[in-house]
Amino acid sequence: MVEDFLRFVKNPLRIFSISAEDLDQLIHAGNHSHYLDRHRATVMIERIRVVAAVFSALTFAWIWLDYIAFDPETWETLAIMRLCSTAIFILLTIPWNINKDLPMGFVMLAMLLANPPIFYVASYVLFDGQEMNQMGSIITTVYTMLPYIIIAGLSIFPLTAVEAIMFATPVILMTVVTPHMAGSDTLTESLATVWILVLILGVYLMAGMSQLHSMISLVHKASKDPLTDLLTRRTGAEIIDLYFRISTLHNTPFSVIFIDLDHFKSINDDYGHEAGDEALRVTAQKLHEYLRRSDVIVRWGGEEMVAVLPNTDMNGIKLILGRILKDWFGDRPEGKPLTASIGVAERISDDIDDWPELVERADTRMYQAKKTGRARAIICNDEVLLSDQPTNTTSSR
Ligand code: GH3
Ligand code: MG
Ligand code: MG
Repeated sequence: MVEDFLRFVKNPLRIFSISAEDLDQLIHAGNHSHYLDRHRATVMIERIRVVAAVFSALTFAWIWLDYIAFDPETWETLAIMRLCSTAIFILLTIPWNINKDLPMGFVMLAMLLANPPIFYVASYVLFDGQEMNQMGSIITTVYTMLPYIIIAGLSIFPLTAVEAIMFATPVILMTVVTPHMAGSDTLTESLATVWILVLILGVYLMAGMSQLHSMISLVHKASKDPLTDLLTRRTGAEIIDLYFRISTLHNTPFSVIFIDLDHFKSINDDYGHEAGDEALRVTAQKLHEYLRRSDVIVRWGGEEMVAVLPNTDMNGIKLILGRILKDWFGDRPEGKPLTASIGVAERISDDIDDWPELVERADTRMYQAKKTGRARAIICNDEVLLSDQPTNTTSSR
C-alpha cells in the first residue's frame, strides 16, 4: 500500500500503464501515425453516421411534440428549424463515397455538434417571456440541457484532449453567453454553469482518453509485426495504396523495393529457429539504417520485406541499393554476409497504373534476381546491380 503510494508519487503515469510517449499521443495528434489517423477517422465517421441517423428520426418526430406544446406561430418556426436540422442529420447519415480521413471526420463532427445548439439558442430567443403550458415548460427545459448532452456525448468519439477541448469550448461559451445576453442568468449562475460544464468535460476527457489509449495499443498491435516491429502486410498495403494515389495526383516518383533473403531456410535448418528469428530482427534493423525515417518497411511474408519509398526515383534507389549491396543484412551464423535477392519498381519509369501491379513488378524482378544467381538487385529496365563484396550465393548445406 505504502509502496504503491510512493510509486504513484514518483511516477503517476505508471499506475495507469501509460508511458510519457503514450500521454503525449493522448493529448495531441502531432505524433500520431498515419494508420492511427486513418483508424480514428473511420471509427469517428461510422459513429457520426449512427448518431446522426438516430438524431434525424428524433428531431423529425419531435415536431409533433412541439405541436402539442406551443402556439402555432412558434411551432411553425420550430418545425422549419427541425426540418433543416433533420436534413443535415440525414446528409451525415448517407454513406457518401467520401475520403474517410481526419479532416472529413472533423467537418462531419462539427456539423453534428452544431445542430443541437441551434435549439438551445432558440429556447432563449423564441420562448423569451412566453406563457407556457406544462408540456412547453418541459420541452424548453430539455432544450437548455442540450449543451450538457453534447459535452457528455463527445465521449463516444476517439478524440485527443486538445481536439475535445476545441470542440467543447464553443459549446461552453455559447451556453454561458446566451442566457447572459438574454438577461436571464446572473453572473453567479453563469459561473455555476461553466463550473458544471467543465466538470463534465473533465470526466469526458478521462473516458475519451482511455478509449483513445486502447485504440492506440490495438492499432499498434494490429499494424506491427511483433518479431521485427515492421508493419504487417495488411497495414503496409493500405499505406502503399495511399502513397500510390498521392504520387499519381502530384505526378511524383514512387518506388517499392521487394527483398527476399537468400537461403534463409538453411539458417533455420542448421542453427535453429531462434537464429532465424534473430537474422530477421537484424535485417529489419539494418533496413531502418539504410532508409530514410519517412520510408515505410513492411514484412510482406516470412522472410520477404517490402520497402515503400515515396518521392524516390531511380537515382535515390541506386543510392540506397549501394548501401544494401555493400553491407547486406549482417552475417549469417556461419560468418558469411546474409544476402538477398532484390527487385525494384517505380511508378513513372515502369508506367504503372495501380499499386498491386507496382508490387507485382518488383516481385517479378526479385524472382529474376533469385533465378540469375541471388545476392543482387534488378531495377527498372531490368538493369542488374551486383555487390562488390564476396557473398554466399549457394546454400551452406
Ligand atoms: P531462397 O534463397 O530461394 O529464397 O531460399 P529460402 O530458403 O530463403 O526460401 P524458402 O522460401 O524456401 O524459405 C523461407 C523460410 O523462411 C521458410 C520458413 O520456415 C522461414 N521463415 C518464415 N518466417 C519465419 C520466421 O518468422 N522465423 C523464422 N525463424 N523462420 C521463418
Ligand atoms: Mg521467400
Ligand atoms: Mg528466401
